Amino acid sequence: MEQQTILVLGGGIGGLRTARELSAKLGNEGDAIVAKILVFEKEQKSTFSPSLTWLMVGKRKEWQVERELNTTSGDGIEFIFGSIENVDPKNLTVTSGGKTYKGNHIVISLGAQQVIEQQLDAHGHNFYTVDGAGTFYESLKSFRGGHVVVMVSSLPYKSPVAPYEAAMLIDNYLREKGIREKAQISVVVPENEPMPFAGKEVSENILKLMEAREINYLPGYQFKATREKELVFTTAEGDKSLTADLLTFTPKHESPTVIQQAGLTGKSGWVEVNRDTLKTDFDHVYAIGDITTITLGESTQLPKAGVFAQHQAQVVAHNIVREIYGKSADKLFKAEGNYIMDLGDGKASKVGGDFYNNEVDIKEAGVMNQWMKQLQERSWFIKNF
Ligand SMILES: Cc1cc2nc3c(=O)[nH]c(=O)nc-3n(C[C@H](O)[C@H](O)[C@H](O)COP(=O)(O)OP(=O)(O)OC[C@H]3O[C@@H](n4cnc5c(N)ncnc54)[C@H](O)[C@@H]3O)c2cc1C
Repeated sequence: MEQQTILVLGGGIGGLRTARELSAKLGNEGDAIVAKILVFEKEQKSTFSPSLTWLMVGKRKEWQVERELNTTSGDGIEFIFGSIENVDPKNLTVTSGGKTYKGNHIVISLGAQQVIEQQLDAHGHNFYTVDGAGTFYESLKSFRGGHVVVMVSSLPYKSPVAPYEAAMLIDNYLREKGIREKAQISVVVPENEPMPFAGKEVSENILKLMEAREINYLPGYQFKATREKELVFTTAEGDKSLTADLLTFTPKHESPTVIQQAGLTGKSGWVEVNRDTLKTDFDHVYAIGDITTITLGESTQLPKAGVFAQHQAQVVAHNIVREIYGKSADKLFKAEGNYIMDLGDGKASKVGGDFYNNEVDIKEAGVMNQWMKQLQERSWFIKNF
């Protein structure tokens, strides 16, 4: 059998999982390689983003949420470091560092490109990065009172639970420090309710969790501009402004430029894959994770979450290996998964279910869920590094 090459674009949650699954399923071992797996990644380190909210409140240090990638090579996996310059999905080639690599299959898992609008980073901290979550904690440590704002600056954004989790962890931090009564916490979002894709029950439950913690919720606030110390929003009642003493925000998300230029994105601006097979419009080219968009209802999409990126990685790896062995692809992606939301008091809730069949709910908060969240983090690092 001629040795094949699989090009995996991105060494984040979806890309790393794909590479690991491919290597194991192919039976690659040491220098006995069935197929080469080239992972293209611009960073030397890979971040486990679900731990960023813990970094924001000092429950993790920077080094605990990221790992060097070069240690993960072996068993047919090779890392090509540097920004991808070109992707040619017709000819199955990828260019990085001026060199063009040809593959038999491509898996795109480049995530969402983050864009800071209106110089928001001069006003607050982007907690969707290691740096931003870390600097937020530095400011939180010296915070003595005032208005803390957790703002969603644009739609769509990955991990739609994260802003609520962040607010609840901040609440818990300020309570433990004994200064909660000196602070007001607001969650400001463009949506009309929390996590609309999850249905009424979940939205109402999240509202209750915030209410119990005296966290203000400002829905329908579309971020417009920064004006000196003010944040300006468009709302149904006209423009409104807020002043934040401590601001943390989610950035604007878009698909990486190199993928837009490759003609891989659709009208939505994201890669519109077949929701069962994760195939793109090009033969042997798959896309998984945050870079994709999968429509659920009239105006709802599957949330961008690591749990789905990992399930999709398994499906795609399985099917590629079947193809390499001359068998038909037989695994379909089922959008089943849970997101564990840390509530900050040693307890966590589980939000999720079967998204394709509209069976999504939120489980009673408990200590077990909190342990599960810690276990997820630990098992990510053990399995992948
Ligand atoms: C604060 C926060 C909390 C979260 N919590 C959870 C949670 O509890 N549960 C959950 O399921 N999900 C959670 N998520 C979401 C989860 O992290 C993402 O959905 C997941 O990382 C998506 O995986 P991905 O492979 O699509 O993208 P990523 O993990 O972002 O990986 C993309 C990779 O591509 C690389 N890349 C991009 N462009 C290029 C280029 N041009 N050249 C080379 N490399 C490139 C990037 O450097 C990156 O390493 C959270 C996210 C955040 C920010």
